[in-house]
Amino acid sequence: MLGRTGEKLAAIGLGTWKIGGGMTPDYSMDKEAIEAIRYAVELGMTHIDTAEIYGGGHAEELVGEAVKTFPREDIFITSKVWHTNLRYDDVLKACERSLKRLQTSYIDLYLIHWPNPSIPLSETMKALERLYKDGKIRYIGVSNFSVSQVEEARSYLSQTDVVANQVEYSLYDRSIEKDLIPYCLKTGVTVVAYSPLGQGRLIRELSIGRSKRIKMLREVAESYSKTPIQVALNWVIWKENVVTIPKSIRKEHLEENVGAVGWRLSERDYKRLADAWG
Ligand code: NAP
Repeated sequence: MLGRTGEKLAAIGLGTWKIGGGMTPDYSMDKEAIEAIRYAVELGMTHIDTAEIYGGGHAEELVGEAVKTFPREDIFITSKVWHTNLRYDDVLKACERSLKRLQTSYIDLYLIHWPNPSIPLSETMKALERLYKDGKIRYIGVSNFSVSQVEEARSYLSQTDVVANQVEYSLYDRSIEKDLIPYCLKTGVTVVAYSPLGQGRLIRELSIGRSKRIKMLREVAESYSKTPIQVALNWVIWKENVVTIPKSIRKEHLEENVGAVGWRLSERDYKRLADAWG
């Protein structure tokens, strides 16, 4: 569920960082990327996360190209405005550029990618509310914001609310558990967990690991007839109001990742894993 909007959001979506390049465009894998995004949507990963900065804008272009074959209302697109574009006029212009690259008339969820203390947050939120009122974005969110920053952002909105905070969360990074997740649960802000596989750390640990915790992860996975990666993703979305967006352009990985939904780790197994990685 997205915030308190009543709108459903896929628990496992698709991340696009490094699809179409890093900070600059890379066109060499366009065909594979478009096919992967389409396949992800077909599998049910209808929440696609991108940003103006990804691939210097090329990730948005690939997303736009990929999803235009689906009814627009079946896709939930998140994009983000970079922290250097947070002045009022810059936000409006950045959004227009993103809409063009995405080949759409609206972005479902538009996030401030990172806070920028040198630009007043009130100014940025005013611009986001303008975009909201103009129908260019359906929802407003933030990313990498602390509790106090989310609270401040909310205080500048009069017609709508912050519905999501996209932050790093995985077995490897648990820093949001103490304050941010409880705050978001209490106030109806969806946590969108990024880097749920620790940006590939779990894959590396699985490939070399004979540690106790990897052994335990494998045992838990076997007991549910799931893979360790599916267990790790299910662990991330275990808490109410947490969804995630693993990145992959490989079909077999997308199939594996989508198998992390439709079932739930027991509380005991959830806690055992939390303790082992804690
Ligand atoms: P991630 O999703 O934790 O890990 C991605 C890596 O895992 C890729 O190398 C991918 O390679 C691999 N992978 C994915 N599924 C796999 C599977 N089933 N088996 C084996 N390997 C698998 O890390 P991330 O890309 O950093 O985070 C996800 C998304 O979050 C990003 O793409 C981006 O959209 C968002 N994000 C946001 C911020 C922010 O500041 N808001 C920061 C970082 C990320 P293959 O492609 O080869 O499968």
